[in-house]
Amino acid sequence: MIQMAKPPTEESLRRIGKLVESYTNKSGTTTHPNPEVTESVVLGLASNLDNLKRPLCPCRFYPDKNEELKHRTWICPCDDMQIYKYCHCLLFVRIDGLPITEHLPADHEGRQAYGEVSDPTPTQGRALRDKAAEREAERKLRSS
Ligand code: SF4
Repeated sequence: MIQMAKPPTEESLRRIGKLVESYTNKSGTTTHPNPEVTESVVLGLASNLDNLKRPLCPCRFYPDKNEELKHRTWICPCDDMQIYKYCHCLLFVRIDGLPITEHLPADHEGRQAYGEVSDPTPTQGRALRDKAAEREAERKLRSS
């Protein structure tokens, strides 16, 4: 569960709403069929935008959030989304609510959790698909 000290500002909620609308269109994904899932992630992203000035993924633990911001790995849409089209927060998913896993490496936690979930719109998204080798090298080096 995502916990916040105070509600995010209207401005940050508006900006995250625009990001979600724009990125679902661009990536050929949809938001989760359960609106509570989407709302929870949107609130977390907006809160991080208020507090950190960047939409850091709210579904992960970071030993030091400010240190994490020196990387772009978990700035939404994160590297796993832009490389593999996988959203572990379930914000950008298929119409049935499943996260797309078919582009993930076989040993990725998403493949282990959901099995192979096909991408219904393979020509859309994955703007950073050529960065998979760098991402997997980073995953071995950094815990977050
Ligand atoms: S997993 Fe990635 S794409 Fe999904 S909400 Fe977090 S940062 Fe955004």
